[in-house]
Amino acid sequence: MNSKPLYLLLLFPLFFVACQPKKKSGVARPKLVVGIVVDQMRWDYLYRYYDRYSEGGFKRLMRQGFSCDNTMIPYLPSYTAVGHSTIFSGSVPAFSGIAGNDWVEQQTGQRVYCTDDSTVKGVGAQDPESKEGKMSPRNMLVTSVTDELMMSNNFRSKVVGVSLKDRAAILPAGHTATAAYWMEDSTGNFITSNYYMTKLPAWVDSFNKKALVQQYMKNQWVTLYPKNTYGQSDTDDQAYEGKFKGDSTTAFPHNLDSSYKVSKATFRSTPYGNKLTLDFAREAVNGYMLGQGEFTDFLTINCASTDYVGHQFGINSIEEEDTYLRLDLELAEFFKFLDEKVGNGQYTVFLTADHGAAHAVWYSQNHDIPADYFNAPTAPIIEGLNKVLAGQFGVGGIADTMVNYQITFSLKTIQEHKLDLNAVKKASVEWLSQQPGITYALDMARLGELPVAEPVRSMVSNGYYAKRSGAIQLIPNAGWFEGRGKTGTSHGTWNPYDTHIPLLFMGWGVHAGHSNQTVYMTDIAPTVAALLHIQMPNGCVGHPIQAVMGR
Ligand SMILES: [Zn+2]
Repeated sequence: MNSKPLYLLLLFPLFFVACQPKKKSGVARPKLVVGIVVDQMRWDYLYRYYDRYSEGGFKRLMRQGFSCDNTMIPYLPSYTAVGHSTIFSGSVPAFSGIAGNDWVEQQTGQRVYCTDDSTVKGVGAQDPESKEGKMSPRNMLVTSVTDELMMSNNFRSKVVGVSLKDRAAILPAGHTATAAYWMEDSTGNFITSNYYMTKLPAWVDSFNKKALVQQYMKNQWVTLYPKNTYGQSDTDDQAYEGKFKGDSTTAFPHNLDSSYKVSKATFRSTPYGNKLTLDFAREAVNGYMLGQGEFTDFLTINCASTDYVGHQFGINSIEEEDTYLRLDLELAEFFKFLDEKVGNGQYTVFLTADHGAAHAVWYSQNHDIPADYFNAPTAPIIEGLNKVLAGQFGVGGIADTMVNYQITFSLKTIQEHKLDLNAVKKASVEWLSQQPGITYALDMARLGELPVAEPVRSMVSNGYYAKRSGAIQLIPNAGWFEGRGKTGTSHGTWNPYDTHIPLLFMGWGVHAGHSNQTVYMTDIAPTVAALLHIQMPNGCVGHPIQAVMGR
């Protein structure tokens, strides 16, 4: 017998085994999860601008996906860092420690930015020692759903966070992320820190070399449609709109070129910031081959320019409407890209917001709705309070700062002069409660004894992390917010305009429909965890939204 056929026959089973695809876990999961946070998007924008949305963007999410039409933020303060940490952790500041964008370390009086990390360096930054690159998620004390995904399969997923804002890239991607990228204003480049890597991947370098920011800023910002068709907005050039630096008017067209020369940060307050973010997100899908591997990958995207535009022009401006109509078209293009790259029905996307925004004070006042500036430069709260406390205790500088609508006292001054902290707080609450625009001034140590209406009681309690939150929480009247510039809008309060956010799921594992039942921002992470059959994050206080999964 010839030995050749026998030799081949012996090899055949080995060859067959080697060619078999690797064994799947057996648990069905999407190839990719994409979590999109539209910064400062109020829930009502889904319907306010609905008529002019395209078929493939917000409307596609609403028709093919599941819309939780009453999703509320259950804590204070309603700011960006807190929103992002909560969306992805299902936790609240009381456990996550992310008590604001900034906070004051109560023992030392030191002001801290949420993602500051002096132990790391910028990667890709113009100066690796500059503040912009020295960022990490280390101040977040809980895991994110992205961390839990990583731990569910021994770190074989890829998790990438993208935003113009450092905090909105870093906190969603979690502690164990493959990468988080954010934009450096001086260069327009996407950068990261050596918390994640020591060198930018080649695809990020190539993206940065395109200098898209500089290209976008050569243009004028003109409206997408004729200006007189923006029926959902106020007429152009309102007194409440803020001027771009170097601009003489707030009316269209905006000469971005000259404004960019005066301030590089102007780029953020244009719709092109969202375009750049989604451009970069597409490159991240390609660069990391997200959704192409054996394990579920996770991409987090924050579209930040909606927030900057709102702060600059107010929510009833044509700029705001134009920014959403443009974002809608960009989202449609992005979903089409994911259909082609990952496969329609093979990925799960959710879209939500980190907070909403108030109507501009002047807008409300013009329409006879009670509203005003709180802590205005003409009546600064801390100065007024210190005057009263000095009169009573004979010492100046007892109150230190107001951050996140919370008063922090100088413990150093109080100790040095042997003052009774409780007496100081009592006197402060008495005076603060009498000031215009203040509904409550709450001594947080005594919250349990105070007559505080829901949902404010739960929200302040969920938002209070004693080491990082001020001793007295102020609750302004509805329509009132902290305003220094007197233009544009802001957020941060408990009121529905700041805390009623959109929440839409679409794609793999998602049942089409909508619900008006109240759910909370803290329910997003456990819903994603349930879809993925992974453990919920370790500080999670929310519950899976069954209806999203058709159960
Ligand atoms: Zn925000």
